[in-house]
Amino acid sequence: MMIPEHLQHLIHSDQPLAPLVWLGIGGPAHFFAEPVDIEQFTQVVTWAAENQLSTRVLGSGSNLLVRESGFDGLVVSLSAAATSGFQINGDTLVAGAGAKLSHAVVKAVGGGLGGLEHLVGIPGTVGAAVVGNVSSGGRDIGSVVRCVRVLQPDGTIREFQQDEVGFTHRKTALAGTTIIEAEFKLESVDAAALTKRLQKLWIARNSEHPTRMERIAMPFVDPDSLSARELIQNVGLAGLREGDVSLDSSQPHYLIAHEGATSDQCLRLIGRVREQVLLQTGIDLQLNLQIW
Ligand SMILES: Cc1cc2nc3c(=O)[nH]c(=O)nc-3n(C[C@H](O)[C@H](O)[C@H](O)COP(=O)(O)OP(=O)(O)OC[C@H]3O[C@@H](n4cnc5c(N)ncnc54)[C@H](O)[C@@H]3O)c2cc1C
Repeated sequence: MMIPEHLQHLIHSDQPLAPLVWLGIGGPAHFFAEPVDIEQFTQVVTWAAENQLSTRVLGSGSNLLVRESGFDGLVVSLSAAATSGFQINGDTLVAGAGAKLSHAVVKAVGGGLGGLEHLVGIPGTVGAAVVGNVSSGGRDIGSVVRCVRVLQPDGTIREFQQDEVGFTHRKTALAGTTIIEAEFKLESVDAAALTKRLQKLWIARNSEHPTRMERIAMPFVDPDSLSARELIQNVGLAGLREGDVSLDSSQPHYLIAHEGATSDQCLRLIGRVREQVLLQTGIDLQLNLQIW
């Protein structure tokens, strides 16, 4: 399919995805765009819809496993400044979907607004955090979302209130959509006390880091009130290796891609872990990692 002339400055063909995802694995996106504003975003998404192309949104790539065959559709990256801004209105933080979640946490805490600080240290963008209902310490992001704005394939924007988003354990009903903005209803608190709390949470979070912080992923969702890390550890799978992919030896809920790793090796390792955990505990670990 040819890219029409008026979109050629926006859409590229055969963009390698491996450098854009944390695991550093995978083939190209057939079409790739990095729109700088919502108007451009609308143009590319509408073009894809008119041409029956599948579209995927790329955040920071910290929760993606891309197969070597790549993605045969349009990948839209949300890294431009126009989709990454913040605004504080009273006790509400409005964040662009492309903004880093860590920046949202710092912005809220700096403004004396509590409610997001427990998410400190989770990599990725606000849009991905909302669509995947990220959580830490048993609290998810959905509990502080006021509303979410989604760009529809016809270029219109639809607003979903919190109770329409379908927040459940590490899931929402918005998977497959394009979130462009989220509003968080936070609580005005003493900024100094909140900053101290953030520092404590940050130290606790850092103590749980795997041995390395590049080319890693967290493949599994913690099953309700249980920890994937403990389950995998108790089953004796820490450090398990499949080709050039392994589980971290001290934090085995993290998968590490070594030099030469492939998506098939990752999938085989994930399959072995699920099988062993199911066999020994009866618990079927669900995937957090999105596979393209
Ligand atoms: C070291 C490490 C620690 C982690 N810790 C946690 C943790 O404590 N808790 C937790 O819940 N997760 C955790 N994760 C998982 C990961 O950080 C989250 O899933 C995060 O939300 C992914 O953000 P991203 O921008 O990198 O998304 P990507 O990897 O780019 O995309 C992930 C999915 O979100 C979709 N998406 C991205 N942006 C949008 C958008 N604007 N609209 C609609 N869909 C979109 C993508 O299409 C894809 O399906 C961790 C991962 C790592 C590597």
